[in-house]
This record gives sequence, structure tokens and C-alpha cells, in this order.
Amino acid sequence: MKIMRELSGKTIRPKCKYYSECGGCQLQYLSYEDQLVLKENQVKKLMGNLCDVNEIIGTESPYRYRNKSHYTFGKNRKNTIISGMYAKNSHSVIDIDTCIIQNENSDKIVQTIKSMMKSFKMEPYNEDSRTGFLRHILIKNGVNTGEYLVVLVVGDKVFPGKKNFIKALLKKHPEITSVVLNVNNRRTSVVLGDYETTIYGKGFIEDILCGKRFRISSKSFYQINPIQTEKLYKKAIEMANINKDEIVIDAYSGIGTISIVAADYAKEVIGVELNRDSVRNAISNAKINKVDNVYFINQDAGEYMVKKSLKGENVDLVIMDPPREGSDENFLSSVVKLSPKKVVYISCNPETQERDVKYLIKHDYKIKEIQPVDMFPQTDHVEVVTLLVKE
Ligand code: SAH
Repeated sequence: MKIMRELSGKTIRPKCKYYSECGGCQLQYLSYEDQLVLKENQVKKLMGNLCDVNEIIGTESPYRYRNKSHYTFGKNRKNTIISGMYAKNSHSVIDIDTCIIQNENSDKIVQTIKSMMKSFKMEPYNEDSRTGFLRHILIKNGVNTGEYLVVLVVGDKVFPGKKNFIKALLKKHPEITSVVLNVNNRRTSVVLGDYETTIYGKGFIEDILCGKRFRISSKSFYQINPIQTEKLYKKAIEMANINKDEIVIDAYSGIGTISIVAADYAKEVIGVELNRDSVRNAISNAKINKVDNVYFINQDAGEYMVKKSLKGENVDLVIMDPPREGSDENFLSSVVKLSPKKVVYISCNPETQERDVKYLIKHDYKIKEIQPVDMFPQTDHVEVVTLLVKE
């Protein structure tokens, strides 16, 4: 195991004035350099006995990096409208005018909407009484295109004064390229509801990542830190060392970003993703980028792998990037059956990754490289890419 780098032992004053109430950024009390040391050490402690761990890839932009911003609406005790984040371990909203890891312009759009609510007689949604209208605002922005998608999550489909509202909003924020109305009147902590309608623009944004163009809708997954995502993908592709004869599965493929980037190097890439909206975006994205050796399948990744392994088909490389819970036995046992030479495992949760790679190690895979990447500065989350090869 490589020697652990040491923390400076100093704490700093968090930049954000809501730090103690909010709880979204657990590590703001450390300098950015110390945050990196802490995360690297965490990965070394967990996986250092399996393979040497590379130095973590940090960022030059540890603030304002998020391209997806989220605000909840409510009222305070004085009955004034407030918007911000839920307080630590609670469902009460803290009034926040700006969040230093979110996009600054998105903060401004939310403040504008908040200031318009009174004149449009728009009430915040009340989760207990299930009355009122505006529940959340979600804003996605394309860092490299300047596009903004504003999703108004509301309690009711009926939006009186919709046209004038949009007109007034666009006058102040001409950068907004699309507005979507999403209805969520269920008792749930999930932000988005099922019903959705586009009330202005195309209903999605596009962004450019790794030189390719990607379409992103309200419900589809897109990495939230594009500067670090480019570094993450570059490293994953380098580890995968793909050649033009190889067939690749990109499991948990989202809107097809990794599949489409990998397709340049491979014979064929198959992206597998459960979320229908993400798959729709992925299919458009292959077309937009004129990539014709990539296919997308809308299915549970484990189920797909089982079918594939039963057919006795051949795969050279599996790239997998599951959600925080990690992968499942179906998936991992099928990887073993399909027996690809290489597995590149990207994870936003090293604990579930460690569990899953141990399964693969038991079945004749060996870890060759572990690379932590800091995708979420100020928070205690860390991303890890691991390369496994068949012995
Ligand atoms: N690789 C993509 C997406 C990673 S996020 C990127 O880099 O952008 C994880 C993705 O897994 C999400 O899009 C989520 O919808 C999808 N997902 C979650 N459970 C799944 C399952 N059982 N089968 C397939 N995809 C799943």
C-alpha cells in the first residue's frame, strides 16, 4: 500500500454562511488540499490492501461546479416565502439565497422566480396540507453551451397565467432555453413526479463533453461536475485500453456519454440503462454525434447480462458505473460467465465498489489500477475508477 498522505491538521472557516444548518457540504472546514488527502486516504484504507491506489485527481474549480441545482420552496413562521435546501436530517427548508457549489446564475433565476411569486399569486406547495403550487425548482445548465433548463415542480397541472409568467421570466433571464412543468403532489421525498409537460423551448438542454454533444432531459442522468467528468472518462478510457476489434458493454449507461466516447475506439458498444428518458436521450445522442457502432438497451443491467451470458456471447470489456448501491449478484455472476478480459468499474461509492470487486477477485479477476477522482468537492463523496483484468 502506498504511504498515506497526511492532513495538515488545520481547520478553516467554511465559506458558506449556511454551512452549519445545511449539511450538504460536510468538508468545508478543510482546505481543498486536505479534502483531497482525506478522500485519497479513505480509498486507500478501504482498497489499499487490494492494489496500490493512485493519487486522487483534484479540480481547479472546487466551488460552483454543479451543473444541476435544486431548491425547495416553503414558508417561514412569518409566512414569508422561502427557497433553499432542507436543513440537516430534517424536512424544514432553510432560506438560502446562494449555494457556493451550485451555478451562480441558477441561484439568480430562483431568486427572480421567488420575487415574481407574489404578483402571480403563486403559493409555495405545502407538503402537509397538500395545498399551494410551487414545490421545487430544478435547473440544469450546459456549461459549454450556455443553455438552461428550468423545471418547475408543482402540485397541480393547472397553471393560470403561465404565458405571462414565462414572458416575465425570460425577459429577466434570456439565457433560459427551456421550461418544463413537472407535477408532483405525492407524499414523497423524491423531487420529480411522473407527469411532465414542456411549456417553453425544446424540453431539454444540450451540453458538450469530451468534444461530443449530449442531450439531457429533466429526468435523465448527467454527471454533475463536467470539468471532472472529462478527467474521469479520459482515465477510464485509458485504463480500458480499447481496440477496434473489441466489443464493449457500457452498463448503467445513463444518456450514453461513456458509450459514445468509447465508440471511437471500439468495434461496437452496447449501452444498458434502466431509465427510459435516459435511453431516449442516449439514442438521440448517438445520432447527433453520428456514431453508428453503439446500441442502447432499456433494461435492468443485471437482467441483460444474464440473458447475454446464457446465449454464450462474447464481450471483451465491461464498463460499469452503477448507482450508490453498487451492482448485484445477477450482474456480477454474469460478468464472470461472460468472462471479459477487462472490467472498468466506475463508482460513486467506494464501499459498495469494494464489496463488488471482491466478488470479481474471488472469480479470477485481479485489480490492476485504482484511481480516485474528486467529482464532489466540499462534500464527503469520492468517485473511484478501478481496472480489473481476467487472470
Ligand atoms: N455512466 C453514466 C451514468 C451513471 S449513473 C454516466 O457517466 O453519466 C448510474 C445510472 O444507472 C443511472 O442512469 C441510473 O438510471 C442507472 N441505473 C440504476 N439502476 C439500474 C439498473 N438496475 N440497470 C440499469 N441501469 C440502472
